[in-house]
Formats: sequence, structure tokens, C-alpha cells
Amino acid sequence: MVDLTRKFDVLVVGGGNAALCAAISARRSGASVLVLEAAPRFYRGGNTRHTRNMRCAHDSATETLTGPYTEEEFWDDLLRVTDGDTDEELARHMIRQSKDVLHWVAAQGVRFQPSLGGTLSLGRTNSFFLGGGRAMLNTLYLTAERLGVEAAYDAEVVALEIDTGMFLSATVARGGERITVRAATLIAAAGGFEANIDWLKTYWGEAAENFLIRGTRYNRGGLLKALLDNGVGAVGDPRQCHAVAIDARAPRFDGGIITRLDCVVFGIVVNKHAQRFYDEGEDVWPKRYAIWGRLVATQPDQIAYIIFDATALRLFMPSLYPPIEAADIRSLAQKLKLDTDALERTVNDFNAAVRPGTFDHTVLDDCRTEGLSPPKSHWARPIQVAPFYGYPVRPGITFTYLGTRVNKEARMVMSDGKPSSNMFAAGEIMAGNVLGRGYAAGIGMTIGSVFGRIAGQQAAANALN
Ligand SMILES: Cc1cc2nc3c(=O)[nH]c(=O)nc-3n(C[C@H](O)[C@H](O)[C@H](O)COP(=O)(O)OP(=O)(O)OC[C@H]3O[C@@H](n4cnc5c(N)ncnc54)[C@H](O)[C@@H]3O)c2cc1C
Repeated sequence: MVDLTRKFDVLVVGGGNAALCAAISARRSGASVLVLEAAPRFYRGGNTRHTRNMRCAHDSATETLTGPYTEEEFWDDLLRVTDGDTDEELARHMIRQSKDVLHWVAAQGVRFQPSLGGTLSLGRTNSFFLGGGRAMLNTLYLTAERLGVEAAYDAEVVALEIDTGMFLSATVARGGERITVRAATLIAAAGGFEANIDWLKTYWGEAAENFLIRGTRYNRGGLLKALLDNGVGAVGDPRQCHAVAIDARAPRFDGGIITRLDCVVFGIVVNKHAQRFYDEGEDVWPKRYAIWGRLVATQPDQIAYIIFDATALRLFMPSLYPPIEAADIRSLAQKLKLDTDALERTVNDFNAAVRPGTFDHTVLDDCRTEGLSPPKSHWARPIQVAPFYGYPVRPGITFTYLGTRVNKEARMVMSDGKPSSNMFAAGEIMAGNVLGRGYAAGIGMTIGSVFGRIAGQQAAANALN
């Protein structure tokens, strides 16, 4: 049983990748470390439990990566997906550090495996955790425990005492009690506020009732709110988030990776009026999958349907649920409760606009539509071979981008621009510094590992000096 009345050098709030990287790094730098995790032990680890890979720069192929991924290429990718909405100095710093962090994570016992040939084509850029995020996380917990990091579960931080940029104590709700925990420094690694539907509603209105949360129910943003209320500078647009299209039949929380649908590029996507609303073939899927949640969120009733035919069925990883199948488009419309004439018209118009080309889903191929609005720029093939299929999809929120402003030391910056004297942040809670919008697969874990490691070193140095 952890003694919460003892004063620690470093208090880490959160229990996912960012928290564990921070805790291990602080402990290895000689500090005493306490981790407070809101979830019970079984559910420890937040969204990290669901991950598969992380994106790090590297100059040459490795045992598990098929080729080099230079800092410059990483930066170009980030610039493209964020449309330039990123802090260049911080982002370049992160990318530079990502090279070494890959080895550092491995040195903590985490093992990697080659990427499976799948829909995201990430074998060159992203390192996949052997056994997935859960195995990675269990390894980090084991390493942390062996080093002497102490962890308390069912320990939600509900309030903070902060005096002009200086952390003094945290209030923890535990077993019906409120306990004051003191530490010389604070590392906030408690994720975003995506599981707090009421908070989401302040920006999205009632539409948020139709959002599904892909990860943990424990990322409710209580710590983020306490920090912002106490003068920490905010970063990021509160409406921006990583959101993908997921199977509408998924549970409200924690559906994880198996509810995601990667078949948008192989068909068309229509709204509840059976109308297309966006170019399904705009760019390669790893650079576009993360915009589809937001696109569906802006459609009536936050629902859409991916429609495809028998030629596409085996080209992508299916979701946990089977697609809805019918012998013809009109029957499919009936099963999906769509207007039959409208869906038939949409499919016919699409088919008529498809120009001949050579289909290749691994490159930006020349299969496109002509004279159709919105166009389908690549991978456009007529939907004409029975049986026909449909997947109902809803916005699946992965994480939100509103966060705490930090500098290169992972030190929080107050709203007056002054650096905090003893507060640091890592992971989703500060992801908005790097990700103003958009996403490229695997960056979430990079942000957590890089800034977690830095935050741990800096917090330890702060506490021990
Ligand atoms: C289905 C899914 C798949 C994903 N796949 C990938 C992937 O393959 N690669 C990738 O890079 N990213 C992926 N992501 C994103 C990735 O999960 C996050 O970017 C990353 O895990 C963030 O780590 P974190 O430590 O900041 O947050 P989390 O891992 O979410 O941890 C936050 C922790 O804070 C705790 N907490 C919250 N509030 C409090 C409080 N008040 N007091 C105490 N504790 C609190 C939570 O219980 C949780 O343990 C995926 C996300 C999901 C949902």
C-alpha cells in the first residue's frame, strides 16, 4: 500500500505511456516518484492500452523497419497533416529526440515486431510493439516497479493547489476519501478530455451525444481543467481532436482498434440522406483516416455509411462486426434504412463518373472520377459487383487537442508567458503544441515518449536541486 502522505520528489498524474516514460525517466535520474492513476489496476494505462505503434525518425532500416525515415521527411509529413498548424521549434525538437527515444523505449524492455502487411502501410516509418500497447505498457509498469516507482490506482486527482505558477499539492479522491498529496514537482500526463461528453458538448452541442469514445472512460480532463483554471497557458483549438470513422455498433467507450473501419478508400461514403459529402480518395489512408471522424461529426445525426461491393471485401481489415450485405443496392438501402431511390442515384452517378485507370491502393493511382462533386481522386472503381455491402459509421473520438502550453523542457508555460517553476506535461494533455490539427499515425505515442522522458529528467533535476 503506497503511503500517500509522504512527500515525493516527482508526482506523475496519469497512468499511460507518457506517465510511465516520465516516471521511469525521473526515477532513473534519482528522484522518488509517485504515479497516481484514476483507473482501477485492470484498466490502468488509458488510451495507450489500445495502441500498436509509434513513429520515430531513423537514418537506416532496422530489424523491424524496412527503410530510413529522416527527420526532414517526418517534419514534411507533420507539416502536411497539420496544414502548418504546429509549433515548429517544438515539433522539430520532438522529431530529433524521437530518433533516440526509440532506443530508450527498447532499453526499458519494450520489444518491437515488423509491421504486418495491412491497410496502413507503415512498415518503414512506424515501430510496432510486440504484443501491442497493452504489452508495451505492462513492460513499462514492470520496469518502473523494479526501479522503485510507486503507483496508486483508483486515485483520481480532482483538484490542485497552485500558487503563481508553482505546484504545491494535489487532492486525490480515493475510496470516498480526499487525500492531499505533496511533491516537489508535478508531471501532468492525464490525457485529454475526450471521455467527458458534457465538456465536448460545450464545443459540439448535442452532436456530442452521438460520439463514441474509442479509448478509456477515465480521460475526463479534470486535471487539464484544474491546470487551466490555475493560470497555465492553453494551447489548441478545443474543437480539434483525433477522430476516426468507427463502426456505429461499437460500445460507447473502449471499443479500441477493432471498431475502426479502413475501407473508405475502397468505396463511397454517404450520409443519412444517401448523399456523398467528401473525396474518399483524397490521399493515402494513413494521412487521411484521422479526418473522417470529424467529417461524420458534421453530417446530420452524426451518422454515415461506407458503401462498397464484392471486389473490395477482402482488401481491408474488417471491423469486429460484419458488414451489412445485400444482393442489390436498393435492398442494401432498405437494410441501412436509407432512401432507396437516393442511394441508387448516388451509386449510379458515381459509377458513371469513374474513369478507367490502373487500380493500386498502395499508391496515388489514376482511378478517379470526372465531373462529379465531390470528386473521388484516387482508387475510384464502379460499385457494381454483387453482393453489396454497407458499414454504418459514427465519429470515434480518439483524443482531444486542447492542452497545456509547454516549452522544449516539457515545462508548462503560464498564460502570462512565464515558465512554471515546477510543473511539466507530457502526452495527450500537451499534444496540441505539436498537433494543431490533423494527425499522422503513430505520433501520439511519440509525443508521449519524447516529452515524457524529457519531463521526467527535468522534473527530477528541478526537485533534486
Ligand atoms: C483505439 C486507439 C488506438 C490508438 N493507436 C495508436 C497507435 O497505434 N499509435 C499512436 O501513436 N497512438 C495511438 N493512439 C493514441 C494514443 O493512445 C495516445 O496518443 C497515447 O496513448 C497518449 O498517451 P498518454 O499517456 O498521454 O494518455 P493515456 O494513455 O490516455 O493515459 C492517460 C491516463 O491518465 C489517467 N487519468 C486521467 N485523468 C486523471 C486524473 N484526474 N487523475 C489521475 N489519472 C488520470 C487515465 O486513467 C489514463 O491512465 C490510439 C488511441 C486509441 C484510442
